[in-house]
Amino acid sequence: MKNVIVVGSGAGGGIITKELASKGIDVTLIEKGPLTKIGKAYEHYDIADVGVEISQTSCIGGTTTVTAGNAVRTCQKYLKNIGIDLEEDFKEIEGEMGVTTLPDTHFGKGTNIIMDKAESLGFNTKKMPKFIDPETCKPCGKCAFGCPRDSKWTSKEYVDDALDHGANVLANTEITELITVNGEIKGVKSNDKEFLADIVVISAGGIETPRILRRTGINAGNNLFVDTFVSVGGILKDIKFKNEVQMNALIKLDDLIMAPHYSGLLYNNLKKYGAGENDIIGMMIKIADEGSGKVREDYIEKYSTAQDVALLTKGSAAAGAILKEVGVDPNTLTSTIARGAHPGGTAAIGDIVNTNLETEISGLFAADASVFPMAPGAPPVLTIVALARRLARYIENEI
Ligand SMILES: Cc1cc2nc3c(=O)[nH]c(=O)nc-3n(C[C@H](O)[C@H](O)[C@H](O)COP(=O)(O)OP(=O)(O)OC[C@H]3O[C@@H](n4cnc5c(N)ncnc54)[C@H](O)[C@@H]3O)c2cc1C
Repeated sequence: MKNVIVVGSGAGGGIITKELASKGIDVTLIEKGPLTKIGKAYEHYDIADVGVEISQTSCIGGTTTVTAGNAVRTCQKYLKNIGIDLEEDFKEIEGEMGVTTLPDTHFGKGTNIIMDKAESLGFNTKKMPKFIDPETCKPCGKCAFGCPRDSKWTSKEYVDDALDHGANVLANTEITELITVNGEIKGVKSNDKEFLADIVVISAGGIETPRILRRTGINAGNNLFVDTFVSVGGILKDIKFKNEVQMNALIKLDDLIMAPHYSGLLYNNLKKYGAGENDIIGMMIKIADEGSGKVREDYIEKYSTAQDVALLTKGSAAAGAILKEVGVDPNTLTSTIARGAHPGGTAAIGDIVNTNLETEISGLFAADASVFPMAPGAPPVLTIVALARRLARYIENEI
């Protein structure tokens, strides 16, 4: 029987390994980062400050270990129009991950007042769907560090399931190259070892997947998007907003999204006014940025285009208006630098992979944020997992 290697254990890699292992397929997952407690995931951040600051995490579970738990379907309509119908996959994974909105007990004072005042200004405000278990979650504001109570779904759960079904999982092993013969995949290489396989799935994320593909001559790494965001905030004495579940509400405009959000960078800007961390309230503005970036072997290029800046400015003005109603002294309003937590688009469907996520090399697939055809401008995990689940079914049929 054919064997499969999956490179990377994040949103894309975890589910493929689990799905294939559960069908009795010989599958090995290779992850460059270590196995870590979810609550310690913040120790494994990889941050690239390249104009827009880009964050990822390298450990078992990948960047899913530090998510805010936001669970929204993105790009579903577009993908359906090009022949990728994810409806069933979304339904299955939403059940597995326990997607739900949190009960009122999990909404803090800061989030509630932002929602109220936004509504009163005419913004449509909703609870954010989350893959967080309300039974075990005790709001603490630490989702992006790695949940201290393991109340949030992460891809490590799929890796654990895969292990239970007999998959091999190698942590601390960085894949550097692919082995190909006459346009067919034969395996992968680390610095000191070769791993042979009939099928290889690269799920190393929007930055590393194109690098691996480029080393074998595939022209990946262009059109990098990151879903650029800024957080805008100010001082509201003793609000203790930083300990609330972050991004627990969603305000959707035509071309951007906003959510209640605390950032330590706001505190850095505001401590000169005597503010403590408990005195800060803020909102995130996130856009579907233009694919202006590129990834090469030893550098990443990413800047905000005029259109990106215009959208961020529009969102910041709206957030400023809401925060003023909330009671923030407008003289204290400040913004973080532009950041991006969703790097992708660098091995896009229709460009580098086909609708089965296969590259020009037979048996070599990509399944992670790099295959997005455009920036979602919204949390991408559900769509990545759905795409990867669909690929697992395709591979099962091929084998
Ligand atoms: C702070 C933060 C909060 C976020 N919150 C949300 C949210 O609430 N909802 C949401 O939908 N999205 C969220 N995201 C985005 C989401 O986490 C990522 O988009 C998603 O995890 C990307 O999945 P992926 O499979 O492409 O890559 P990753 O999840 O990053 O996985 C890639 C894996 O490949 C490994 N790897 C890389 N190179 C190699 C190599 N050469 N050999 C072996 N292994 C390798 C990495 O170590 C990593 O484990 C957030 C991101 C951040 C940073």
